[in-house]
Amino acid sequence: MLPVIALVGRPNVGKSTLFNRLTRTRDALVADFPGLTRDRKYGQASYDGYEFIVVDTGGIDGSEEGIEIEMADQSLLAIEEADIVLFLVDARVGMTVADQAIANHLRKQEKKCFVVANKTDGIDADSNCAEFYQLSLGEIHHIAAAHGRGITLLLEQTLQPLIAELAAQDEEVTGDDEELIDLYEEGEGDDTDHQAFADKPVKLAIIGRPNVGKSTLTNRILGEDRVIVYDMPGTTRDSIYIPMTRNDKEYVLIDTAGVRKRKKVSDVVEKFSVIKTLQAIEDCNVVLLVVDARDGISDQDLSLLGFALNSGRSLVIAVNKWDGLDDYVKDRIKTELDRRLGFIDFARLHFISALHGTGVGHLFESVDEAYESATKRISTAMLRRIMDMAQADHQPPLVRGRRVKLKYAHAGGYNPPRIVIHGNQVHDLPDSYKRYLMNYYRKALKIMGTPIKIEFREGD
Ligand code: GDP
Ligand code: GDP
Repeated sequence: MLPVIALVGRPNVGKSTLFNRLTRTRDALVADFPGLTRDRKYGQASYDGYEFIVVDTGGIDGSEEGIEIEMADQSLLAIEEADIVLFLVDARVGMTVADQAIANHLRKQEKKCFVVANKTDGIDADSNCAEFYQLSLGEIHHIAAAHGRGITLLLEQTLQPLIAELAAQDEEVTGDDEELIDLYEEGEGDDTDHQAFADKPVKLAIIGRPNVGKSTLTNRILGEDRVIVYDMPGTTRDSIYIPMTRNDKEYVLIDTAGVRKRKKVSDVVEKFSVIKTLQAIEDCNVVLLVVDARDGISDQDLSLLGFALNSGRSLVIAVNKWDGLDDYVKDRIKTELDRRLGFIDFARLHFISALHGTGVGHLFESVDEAYESATKRISTAMLRRIMDMAQADHQPPLVRGRRVKLKYAHAGGYNPPRIVIHGNQVHDLPDSYKRYLMNYYRKALKIMGTPIKIEFREGD
């Protein structure tokens, strides 16, 4: 599970500035979820090699009497879902009534919570920040988000203990996977490592926006009452893991819709949680994105797809509610989907009706295919042969008068499949040729449902 850091505080204290700083590192992906969450933004960031999720909660409006109401909805949920809350205050403005109201709320939570005084540039930070100790939330961390000052130290002090804890847990859980990867990277040997991997149940995350039909689909897959799932303790960000068997194969459904969970008063809020969805993507083998045929692909769907792509997960898309549409409408929807989903042409599209059960069975064919593609072992000889064929069919271009030359290829890992290509001037290869190579490999290896990553290295 990725640690989650929520940024909270009044408007204008510098939350967005800090968010941008944190997510700017590497090719972090930031997704807006307009409508659902007002201003909330989600990003992936890394510190010291560890990935985490940052949530910018948007301003808690400091209009005092409004604070309870404001706190009650999305920001409250963000705080609840977070492992760490960074409570930002403005060192120049000093402590306000709204700051105190927020602090009162935070003190009641059992959360790791840190006060971060921003905008300490050009002022005497120590004397300006002293009053924030009255918030009774411990140490005051000084930063200047706009100038990137104090941020590494802040992360070190706030994240490090949690990361150490999570790393220790991870070690226990994934120890044997690491061994498999080592074996795989040696490139040789028999198929036993792949076999061991394939014996594990495939973890399938059913994700999508509210009301697209995730619960209906989950129930359909499980066959209504065949499976009894007990209420499990957990927070709003926890999905439910449901083991199931289909055609003698084992799967674990990661149910983000909370189908089998006891209904709660806060059900509406609980039903869709971006954090829950992101964690499910992170933890699964295959993502099943459900979209509503009548709504098409929304920006939120694209954000979810972006996260799935970024994490390298296998992907199957179910276009649900395909019942009761006339042919003209169906054609129009298909054209629109092609246009919007051009960037993930590796994912199989299924037109289904969760309500009537039409097409649901076939989903698993694509899920299996995607998982097998993602974990398939490919020999160095094969990768090389395909590279040579691709190069013979279509030469790499000339760059500054010299032809780019691909010399050697080998596997760099799986899930998603990574191919490492060595050659001369490979860093100058245009994107169009990289895409050509990727598609060539995809076709030759019959890899569907998973992204393929190709890394280029200069030299032999
Ligand atoms: P948010 O509403 O909490 O997300 O705040 P923003 O990130 O939008 O920042 C509000 C204003 O404070 C902007 O004009 C920023 O440029 C400014 N600001 C943010 N960080 C700093 C800082 O470290 N120093 C100074 N002097 N200004 C800052
Ligand atoms: P979730 O929020 O994604 O879990 O969505 P639900 O499963 O709760 O479904 C939302 C609404 O869409 C419900 O009223 C369902 O009955 C309806 N629905 C789900 N699947 C289908 C379908 O295949 N066809 C039609 N026509 N309606 C569906």
